[in-house]
Order: sequence, then structure tokens, then C-alpha cells
Amino acid sequence: MRICRYNDNRIGVVRGANVHDVSAIVDELPAVRYPLPIGDPLIANLERLRPTMEKLADQAKPVPASSVRFLSPVANPSKIIGTPVNYQKHREEADKDKEIAVYSPSARAASIEQQGLFIKASSCLVGPSEGIAVRFPDRRTDHEAELGLIIGKRANNVSEDKAFDYVAGYAIALDMVVRGSEDRSFRKSIDSYGVLGPWLVTADELGDPTNLDFSLKVNGEVKQASNTSLMVMSMPKQIAFASSFYTLLPGDIIMTGTCEGVARVVPGDTMALDFARIGAMEVKVRAAE
Ligand code: MN
Repeated sequence: MRICRYNDNRIGVVRGANVHDVSAIVDELPAVRYPLPIGDPLIANLERLRPTMEKLADQAKPVPASSVRFLSPVANPSKIIGTPVNYQKHREEADKDKEIAVYSPSARAASIEQQGLFIKASSCLVGPSEGIAVRFPDRRTDHEAELGLIIGKRANNVSEDKAFDYVAGYAIALDMVVRGSEDRSFRKSIDSYGVLGPWLVTADELGDPTNLDFSLKVNGEVKQASNTSLMVMSMPKQIAFASSFYTLLPGDIIMTGTCEGVARVVPGDTMALDFARIGAMEVKVRAAE
């Protein structure tokens, strides 16, 4: 199943080239009152709600996907986790480029296990239709195309061999960053510097996520192209590692790392991302107001 959020917070099921409005599913979510539970309630209840969503989709008039504005398929993640330098060729390019490699050589030489994962503020998250608003135009804002992994169930100290059981699905992710000397989490948390879209493909529909071709073009020129089989730290290991430090909640997003080819974008640019068995999305870049 492919699930999206679009236009004015509509919930949709994507079938082929069409979106079917299933927004009525929101009425099936548990009523909440303050203090709100942390995490995304739609993702937390997805397994239970899927049959109803399929029925609602059957009854809905299809609308072309090309005519809607896609928001992030996850509305309320408690956290967005980033895996640093998770493709060998990106590590090599980072070692050669002083603007990417802001940390000390010894820190950069460390394994992912030694560096740990990082967090992007959940307030940075947008969908592809919202675009990137570049702040600090004198500095370099780079694109990082990544597979986004969405956690489906509370996960604490899970083992690698059970880790995929905790995945709700996958989406295309962009881990945008302003280069510089500040802490990585600070530079990657700028409003709109986390993109997820165009929809969530459930784990059962996607199949094996460990061999997906993906690419990112800027204004039609290929900048990044790789395959998820080239990750240094596997996805089960990322889930196990993350959950050994903190509890993962439904809707939490792991941005699983980028491949080589990261480069600057400036206002006026258009990025086009393509992931096998997920789909494609365009993200426009503008100057922040
Ligand atoms: Mn990244």
C-alpha cells in the first residue's frame, strides 16, 4: 500500500498514477487530549486501519497524482534520525572536500558506531510540494538523497535479526544541510531541510529495501546515483543501534545516509529524485523570507 498526505492535510492511498482520498480514516484514530502522546498516531494504528483504508480507497474517485501537492507522508514524527557517512564513496568525497569535512580528521576517521547517529529537529520536516527555503545564502546548502525508513512500532533495544519487523515502510528522503562548523544536528535542522515523500510505501509492498537504485538530478543534471546495497551500516543495524540508545516510536524516520555527489543548491534550482519501487518527486529551492 502507498499512503500519502496531500493538499490541505488530506490522507490518500496511491494506486498507479492516481490518489484516492481516504481522509475519513482520521475519524478512526483514538481521541486524544492533552498531554498528547508522542509519535505519529496514523502510523501507530496503520496495521489496524489498512483494511478500512483499502475500502475507502475503493469508494473514492481517483484523482491524478500529478494534480495534488504532496506533504510529508508522516505528519508527526517524534524524531528524525540521521546516519552519517553511510556510503563509502561519500566518505571519500567528504575527506577531500574541506567544506563537507568540518570535523577533525580523527573524528572523521571514526566508524559510524564510534560517531553515533544524529538527530534532525522534527520541525524541519516538509513534503516535496513545500520545497526548500535556503537560509544563509552566503553559505553552502547541499542536497543529500537518502532512503527514508519509517518506524511502525515502538522499538527499544531490538536485535538486528528482528529489526525489519519494526518498519512501517519507506519513502524518498532529502537530508538537506548548510555546510559549516556548527554541530551537524544544528545545521541539518533548518526549517524545510528535511523532506519526505512523495508517499510511504509499506514494507510488505516494497519488498527488499536493500537493493534499490536511486538518483537525484539538479535542473536535469544527474548529481547523485547509487544503490541502497552500498550502505556501510545495514538498515537492521541502524535500527538496532538507534534503539540501543533510545526508544523508536511509530512515525520516527531514519534517513539512512547519502551516496557520493552531494553538491550545492541555490534558489531557483529544482531537484528531481527517483527511487526504484518507491517513485519520483520534485523539490524546488527558494530563498527563505
Ligand atoms: Mn545525510
